[in-house]
Amino acid sequence: MARPDEINYQQLSADALADVPLEETMAVRLLTDPKVELLSLVHAAYAVRQHYWGKKVQIHILNNAQNGQCPEDCSYCTQAKTSDADIEAYPIKSDDEILGEAKRAYEAGAHRYCMVFAGRGPNNKRTQVLADLVRKIKSTYPIEVCVSAGLLDDDKAQVLAEAGLDRLNHNLNTSREHYSEICTTHTYDDRVNTLRSAKKAGLETCSGMIVGMGETANELIEVANTLREMNSASVPVNFLLPFEGNVLREPHGLTPDYCLRILSVFRLIHPRAELRCGAGREFHLGSMEVLSLYPANSLFLDGYLNGKGAERKRTLSMIRDAGFEIVSDQRLDELIEHEPVDGSDVELRVAGKTAAFKTRAELRPAEV
Ligand code: SF4
Repeated sequence: MARPDEINYQQLSADALADVPLEETMAVRLLTDPKVELLSLVHAAYAVRQHYWGKKVQIHILNNAQNGQCPEDCSYCTQAKTSDADIEAYPIKSDDEILGEAKRAYEAGAHRYCMVFAGRGPNNKRTQVLADLVRKIKSTYPIEVCVSAGLLDDDKAQVLAEAGLDRLNHNLNTSREHYSEICTTHTYDDRVNTLRSAKKAGLETCSGMIVGMGETANELIEVANTLREMNSASVPVNFLLPFEGNVLREPHGLTPDYCLRILSVFRLIHPRAELRCGAGREFHLGSMEVLSLYPANSLFLDGYLNGKGAERKRTLSMIRDAGFEIVSDQRLDELIEHEPVDGSDVELRVAGKTAAFKTRAELRPAEV
């Protein structure tokens, strides 16, 4: 007979599938109790992932469309005015360059092309530029488009929605309580309001968090529950990358075990969401990385905004070797076959400690 304090992992899956919210105390326990059986928890999350997404993996490729010189002070970000990170800063890329990267993303098997623009938020003129870009990409390639452009009001969200934007990315990043510890130039409510404007305009939202920034387990669950209330279609879970020069560069408590617990708990809280194992996947999960595919059904290929990621061949092979498939017009086997044979992985760490920066060629693969 089961002891009263034993966790019933099958019941966790059944409740998630029946849309019964995960109790906060249980969610925190799943993150913190040393008695939790990691593989049983991952399996419980996988049952839910499998139900809604089968063995499909959605690949996202980020376009860092404008890099650096942001007036905001988000302490985790290499582009913040307060960061001394040695990044390759540049103004917004030309339309040709952005379209060239969209083509490359489509041909590399990406389901979604995510354009990210540094800054507090676009003015009306910039919003129109973004809308025109969305139109051009959508009329040229059969790829979903997501934009991350900072704070937006109702009117700007509407302009992007009318251009055919599929999704707006705007992460909550951390809890309301903890927000002023990581950023002082805008508030948690500013972020929530942007998500509300996106919803009002009929846009799908992509919103998640960056874990490892000193938030408590309770705060982490609070963010996960807020995103559930906001019905975010896509939920990226990013793991803080320790970039040299950033204000915040000491990830808190991010062991592979904890990262997998977080992903699994997010899946139980967001049964239907596209759950993405985001930035820092390779860095923090290490040899346990493949297990992230069991709770999460989405990942980034080609690294992050300024951070290197694993080589394509390695990520695509990981997906295939674990028996998963990609959502793409391209065939996974062919993509793997055509990627160059390298035999080694890129160096993701500098001096074994901090995260490696992308080179200019990696940031601007279609530079003209
Ligand atoms: S607003 Fe965006 S680009 Fe600017 S510092 Fe914050 S996260 Fe970085």
